[in-house]
Order: sequence, then structure tokens, then C-alpha cells
Amino acid sequence: MINVTIIPVLKDNYAYLLEADNGETAIVDPGEAGPAIDVLEQKSIKLDTILCTHHHADHIAGCASLKEKYGAKIIGPEKDAARIPGIDIGLTEDSDFSLGGESVTIFETPGHTTGGICYYFPESTLAFTGDTLFSMGCGRLFEGTPEQMWESLQKIMTLPDDIKVYCGHEYTQDGGNFSLHIEPDNEDTKIRMEDVIRLRKQGKPTIPSTIALEKKTNPFLRAGSAQRFGEIRKIKDDF
Ligand code: ZN
Ligand code: FE
Repeated sequence: MINVTIIPVLKDNYAYLLEADNGETAIVDPGEAGPAIDVLEQKSIKLDTILCTHHHADHIAGCASLKEKYGAKIIGPEKDAARIPGIDIGLTEDSDFSLGGESVTIFETPGHTTGGICYYFPESTLAFTGDTLFSMGCGRLFEGTPEQMWESLQKIMTLPDDIKVYCGHEYTQDGGNFSLHIEPDNEDTKIRMEDVIRLRKQGKPTIPSTIALEKKTNPFLRAGSAQRFGEIRKIKDDF
């Protein structure tokens, strides 16, 4: 089983420290190294692996320093290998990859970028979705089409309801406001927003979400078709 520690980095990014039962460690999406090193030093642990969801700087800028300091291996999407400096292992959906003794499923999720991937840990019941699926939102379509992103989100939606979702940014409150703009009468979203507002007032993360919660409150997952998804994504771009 994997234990997750949330590491806030940059303005509103999250990196995550993964500690497996067998002592293996990893950091997901280190947008900067400093806060990650602080957490590792507090816990007096070393870093084995860095997992990248996609090539954007706010997710990989800390990789090089962490690799240099700990000799950690940088792992990320094979398709983005040319855009992730220092990458050691590139993954695709067909890769046989495990961490901490747990077999990890890789989802290729183009849309936000062409190469982005998500990491699913079935035994630990958690997933890292980068900038593909946010809590009550999804990433902008910088490199992909609405059809691609819709298909990518559909892949994530096949996960069991109890899977905890760890995404790349603390965008939940903004996402919730937009969700209520699209579905003003969604009671699940209204109830959830009370929690979100309370947590943010206390300066606490709203992460992780769950697949069940996202299915009920995320307007992008609720679009129903690639075409409607594209429309909602366009409205959000100017929201
Ligand atoms: Zn991004
Ligand atoms: Fe990002």
C-alpha cells in the first residue's frame, strides 16, 4: 500500500510524496524541488523515483535537482520524453510498471497535452491525474482536441467509485463555481462547495477527491458527449 503526503508547490500546484510499505518512495510532479526536499528531510527519507504526468514546467521543474540530490530516476510519458529533460524511463499504456511492489496502470490521456499520462494504483485505490482531471474541472486543451480529452476523461471514469483522485492543482473552488454556473441546481455540488469553502478558509487542500464525487459534481465528466464537452470547455476558457 502507498501512503500519500500532499506537498504544495509554486502558487497552486500539488506535488505528492508516495511512501510504499516496502520503503520505496516517489514524488509525483515536482514543480519545484525545495518543498519536496523539505518534506523528505523532515521524514529522513531518500527519494527513489520521480513520476511526471506531463511535460509542463509547473510539473517537472524540480526534477533535475531531485535527481541530482538523490539519484532518483525520472519516469514519465514516453510520448513526452523529448520534452522532459533527464527522463530515464518512458511509459505507455502497455508498460509493465510497478512501484512499491504494486502494479501501476498507466492511462494515456491526451487533450491537455498530446503526451500526458495518469497513474492508477488499484491496490492503494488512488490515481494521479495531473492536469487532465481536476477536482470539479479539467485541464485546458493546449495541444489536443475536445474529442481526445473527452476520451481521456472517459478512461478515468471507468475507475471504481472509491478511487481517490490526486490532481495537479488546487483549482477546486474555481471549478465548483463554474460547475454551479453550468448546473445551478446540482445539490451535490452545492453541498460539496460548503466543504470546499470551509477547507480553503482554513488553508487546507481540497484534495483528494474521489471518482464518485467527480461523477456527481464535475461538469466536464457530466457532459455526456464529446461535442457538449467541447462546448463546456469553451465556456470555461472565458469564465
Ligand atoms: Zn499542465
Ligand atoms: Fe499544471
